[in-house]
Amino acid sequence: MATIIPVPAFSDNYIWLLREGSNAAVVDPGDAAPVAAYLDRERLALTAIINTHHHGDHVGGNEDLLARAAVPVFGPARERIPGITRGLAGGDTIVIPGIGLELAVLDVPGHTAGHIAYFGRPGPADEGGAPVAFVGDTLFAGGCGRLFEGTPAQMFESLSRLAALPGATRVYCAHEYTLANLRFARAVEPGNAALARRQEREQAKRDRGEPTVPSTLADELATNPFLRAAVPEVFAAAQAHAGRALATPVEAFAALREWKNHF
Ligand SMILES: [Zn+2]
Repeated sequence: MATIIPVPAFSDNYIWLLREGSNAAVVDPGDAAPVAAYLDRERLALTAIINTHHHGDHVGGNEDLLARAAVPVFGPARERIPGITRGLAGGDTIVIPGIGLELAVLDVPGHTAGHIAYFGRPGPADEGGAPVAFVGDTLFAGGCGRLFEGTPAQMFESLSRLAALPGATRVYCAHEYTLANLRFARAVEPGNAALARRQEREQAKRDRGEPTVPSTLADELATNPFLRAAVPEVFAAAQAHAGRALATPVEAFAALREWKNHF
């Protein structure tokens, strides 16, 4: 299975590059230039483009990369993706050309209406054998995406779908938002010791100039308030901040998202 490398783009995006032998596939190339520079420097051939959703900072590099090599483009069937050759929806599977990794597609609407995520299980000998998930702007390290095109109920269900993946899953999100997300998480759950430890760990990574992504799903389940809306402490904090009684975890999730929007 491929090595997975972050190619930084813009101010805080990660374009994930999967590398196997002399082949490379990219997830959400918002900008072609840093990808092209990496491919040239490492003498790699681009074999596929994989998109999670239609936002410009995720698909903006598709056409320039396609001008270099006419490779297959995988993306959500329900969204306008430049150069798309295979539209996907939940339940589909793909095998990444030139890389060989099989990915299952999950529908995760909320950030955008057709947002999809990809889940794969690399062979046991590679990358420690941990499953991988490319989640775009749905689940962030310590947070979640804004609801531009979906309802809180949709996003809550999408996050629940990701939360059901194995705890060892490495979660590859598309932005380095972790420290800001964890500051918010601490405001929600000041008594969560795992969260306090994570904040120190991730701060140390940033101090060394390292990415905090990928995280593991187990870490997210223990520290990410948006996966913890049903936990009594988180539910109570959401209710206190909203200033009214909340009836369900979805309502608590909506209150948390609203709180974070103005944090
Ligand atoms: Zn987005």
